[in-house]
Amino acid sequence: MALGVGIIGLPNVGKSTLFNALTRAQHAAVANYPFCTIEPNHATVPVPDARLEQVAAICRVPKVISASVDFYDIAGLVRGASTGEGLGNKFLAHIREVDALLHVVRCFEEADVVHVEGTTDPLRDIGVVETELLLADLQTVQNRLEKVGRQARIDKDLRREADALEVLRQHLDAGKPARSFPRAEADPILPALADMHLLTDKRTIFCANVGEGDLSTGNPQVEQVRQYAARAGADVAVISARMEADLAGLSDVERAEFLGSYGLRESGMDQTARMAYHTLGLISFFTHNEAEARAWTIRRGCRAPQAAGVIHTDFERGFIRAEVVALADYVRLGGESACRSAGVLRVEGKEYVVQDGDVIHFLFN
Ligand code: GDP
Repeated sequence: MALGVGIIGLPNVGKSTLFNALTRAQHAAVANYPFCTIEPNHATVPVPDARLEQVAAICRVPKVISASVDFYDIAGLVRGASTGEGLGNKFLAHIREVDALLHVVRCFEEADVVHVEGTTDPLRDIGVVETELLLADLQTVQNRLEKVGRQARIDKDLRREADALEVLRQHLDAGKPARSFPRAEADPILPALADMHLLTDKRTIFCANVGEGDLSTGNPQVEQVRQYAARAGADVAVISARMEADLAGLSDVERAEFLGSYGLRESGMDQTARMAYHTLGLISFFTHNEAEARAWTIRRGCRAPQAAGVIHTDFERGFIRAEVVALADYVRLGGESACRSAGVLRVEGKEYVVQDGDVIHFLFN
């Protein structure tokens, strides 16, 4: 499962700077991602995971393939985008496909960089962006309502959908995002909701872009973003897009030193990737063979055959069983055969719910 994150925000908040850093990180990692294409608005970036490094060290394989996150640079959001300003609806079409949004908010002061709204004011900026997303959703729901409403006169099921859509329309009209639409109300229109890809239904991570000097200390604007996000139940990553660009070209050792000099342990992008996992309820499991150790991404609650299907659809279809070792056992005992001897290697069937950090060997037809 490729995890897709769309980078949004007003112009001049640092989106391209951040995206260029991601592209550089992708170029550095490209040897391990032969399947990823280099596209102008899309970067596949590895998610660092110390647990995978442990697995690789124990099974002594030459190659390590991390899980990855696909970032999409979605330019063109300005006040009025939902009514066709800027790239308008073309912009909005681009964000329908992603799993989550990374909303970059300008929290740095820089006289040389013009602010499209005149001054640095994170809460106003967030308001502008969220209003555009909400207006776009309102339009989407209204369009569907018109279509369904016509047919609903002769079809009882469609009548129910139309009624629920009307409640949703009122919810959005009151300025509330689709993600807070009550579950019970949403039930009759789950297929419609999946189909509409509403923008305010997507999980959002706020990305406060600060100057390097404010990274470890934060600043009053970051605080405003934090408070806003806390009310919305969203995560906040504090990054400096400029620093990410500097970090992208460095080796692991150099990176650690560079971050350490700012009192930091991880880069903003590493932080963001971790949050994307958390926000979307994703976990990783690990596999290895003679050639490589690899991390795979699944949703929490996923059963063994579906997890196998992430590797290859044939694995899901022909699933027989999974040999599973918990990571703690794998590390403590030093590998698979020791785990087998110690009796902690479990044989699991198709009802098994895969746990974060499981080291798995699938057997299939
Ligand atoms: P976009 O329109 O959102 O894609 O913004 P850009 O990435 O093009 O950035 C706009 C301007 O802000 C550029 O001149 C960047 O160098 C500058 N900028 C971006 N991030 C930072 C930052 O963290 N600190 C400072 N001081 N300037 C930044």
